[in-house]
Amino acid sequence: MRVLVISDIHSNLTALESVLDDAGQFDAAWCLGDLVGYGPDPNECIEAVRKLPNLSCVIGNHDAAVLGQLDLESFNRDARLAVEWTQDNLTLENFAFLGNLPEKVQVDSNVTLAHGSPRNPIWEYLLDSYTALENFKHFETRYCFVGHTHLPVAFLSQNGSTDLEWKISYNGNLGDRAILNPGSVGQPRDHNPLAAYAIYDTETTIWEPHRVDYNIPAVQQRITMTGLPRRHAVRLEDGW
Ligand code: ZN
Repeated sequence: MRVLVISDIHSNLTALESVLDDAGQFDAAWCLGDLVGYGPDPNECIEAVRKLPNLSCVIGNHDAAVLGQLDLESFNRDARLAVEWTQDNLTLENFAFLGNLPEKVQVDSNVTLAHGSPRNPIWEYLLDSYTALENFKHFETRYCFVGHTHLPVAFLSQNGSTDLEWKISYNGNLGDRAILNPGSVGQPRDHNPLAAYAIYDTETTIWEPHRVDYNIPAVQQRITMTGLPRRHAVRLEDGW
């Protein structure tokens, strides 16, 4: 089965559409949370995700914040303004969709999905090998796919080794055990502004990272028109 793996769309419909065009045919879509926040298209993004074939999706911290499940004091000012704007603009149906998302889900015999980490799905950032290693104790499957950092990284463990391999944009077989992040569709933060996603093959366990160009000025214009903080527009062209 060919699976589209996406994360951190952050209400950027133009980036999401480019990813879907670029990905071609896939049998299932696994979405790692943060469908909303920062960008101007929350309803359109949720509706596009809901239509994906065999969708499995987990909740992210921005989704939880929009639902009122997190203290907004934990967000910086510009992120909080986008959460509040999203609360004012989201349809009831899309609120309900976000409200039904699980924090962590096992999608097949090999893979668990979580937004931040399997240990603390809503908040933890997996940015280093030490934190990643601790997290290998918190999922039963061989692999866990996460988002949240907006960085396409892989932490790989072969033969039970505690000496993890840490790779950017890893391309290949996932081996014994691994934690993978496909990067962000709607707000990449690795100084590469191209939208990021991955294709995962459930039979071969091969992971393929992808990047795709999209019309950034069009998104920036919508951010400006809606009155969302200017910072959310500026950062898209530099990928941070
Ligand atoms: Zn995010």
